[in-house]
Amino acid sequence: MKVTTVIGARPQFIKAAVVSRALAAQGISETIIHTGQHFDANMSEIFFDELEIPQPGHNLGIGGGSHGQNTGRMIEAIEALLIDHRPDVVLIYGDTDSTLAGALAAVKLHVPVAHIEAGLRSFNRRMPEEINRILTDHAADLLFAPTEAAVSHLAAEGIPDARVHLVGDVMYDAALFYGAKAEDKSSILEQQNLKRGEYVLATVHRAENTDDRERLTAIIDGFAESNRTIILPLHPRTKSRLANFGISVANNILLIDPVGYLDMVMLEKNAALIATDSGGVQKEAFFYGVPCVTLRDETEWTELVEAGWNKLVNASDPAQIEGGLVDVDSFARNVIKPYGNGSAGKEITLVLSSTINDRQKFGS
Ligand code: UDP
Repeated sequence: MKVTTVIGARPQFIKAAVVSRALAAQGISETIIHTGQHFDANMSEIFFDELEIPQPGHNLGIGGGSHGQNTGRMIEAIEALLIDHRPDVVLIYGDTDSTLAGALAAVKLHVPVAHIEAGLRSFNRRMPEEINRILTDHAADLLFAPTEAAVSHLAAEGIPDARVHLVGDVMYDAALFYGAKAEDKSSILEQQNLKRGEYVLATVHRAENTDDRERLTAIIDGFAESNRTIILPLHPRTKSRLANFGISVANNILLIDPVGYLDMVMLEKNAALIATDSGGVQKEAFFYGVPCVTLRDETEWTELVEAGWNKLVNASDPAQIEGGLVDVDSFARNVIKPYGNGSAGKEITLVLSSTINDRQKFGS
C-alpha cells in the first residue's frame, strides 16, 4: 500500500507524527506533501525534527495568500503530484485549507481519501475551519472520528456508517508518547523563570479573535486585569495583528515566540490554568489535568465543558476573561475518558490496511 499524506499547518504535523510512526511500524510506505501553509522554522521545521516525522517529499511553498488563493493553488499542485504518484490512499488531517485542498484533489482523481479527525463541528459557519471540515468529511471515503460526538455529527449529516470509524484521538496518542519525553528534554520553565503551578499558559490565533481589533484588545485587557503571570507563545498572525492594531501588552504577560511541541507540552503540564482559542490546546489541557478557559463562543470539544474541565468565556468581555483566569477552583473536573485509549494511530493503520486493498468497499 502506498500512502500520500498532505499536511501544512502546525497541528497537522503533530497528528501526522502519530500516524507516520504507526505506518512505519507496519512497513507501509508514506510520501509527505507539505503545502507550505505554515513555513516559519518554529511553526514547521522544529516539529519535523522533534517529532521525528519523515521529511516531506515535496514542499509546495504555498502560503500567505487568501483562503481562495491558497486552496486553489494547493489543489492544482497536489493534483499534479497525485497523478504522478498514484497512491492507494491520501491521508488528510483536521480542518485547514491544506485539508480541503488534499481532499478535493484526491477525490476527483478517484484516489481514496482518509480524513483523520473527522466529524468535529462547531456549528459556526463563519469559521473557515468549519467549512473545511464539512466539505472534507463529505468528500472523504474513510472518516476517522475521535469521539462518539463526532460519529453522531456525521450520522446526522447522512454520511454512511460504513465509511466512519471511531478510533479515538491521535492527539491523545501524542500526549501519551511525548508527555514523558517533554519532562526529560525541555528546559522551558527554567529558561522563562516559571514556577510549576504558578502561571497561566495562553494561546490566541483564531481569526475571529486576532482579526477583530476590539476582541483582541479585550483579550489582552482581560489578561492584564487578572494580574496573573501569563506566558503567551505568539502565533505569527497574532504578532502581526498586535503590531498593526498598536495594542500594547502589560507586564504580567510574557510574550515569547512559538515554541516546539516538547516545550509546549512542558508549559501545558505545569500551568495552573490554560486560556486558549486553540482546538488542540483545549484537549491537551485535559490530558494533563489542567483546567482550561476557552476564548470562544463555542467549542468542538463540548464533552470537556460538560465534564467541568473547560469553560467558554466571551472573548469580547475583559471582565469575563479576568473572572475565568482567577476562578481556578470552580472547575468540576469530573472523570471522563472520551478520546480512546491512546491507540488511534495503530487503529487507523489497521483500518487502512484492511480496506484500501479492497476498493469495492468504497462503493466506487
Ligand atoms: N503548539 C506548539 N507550540 C506553540 C503553540 C501550540 O507546539 O507555541 C501545539 C499545541 O500543543 C497543539 C497544537 O500546536 O498540539 C495546536 O495547534 P494550533 O493551536 O495552532 O491549532 P488548532 O489546534 O487550533 O487547530
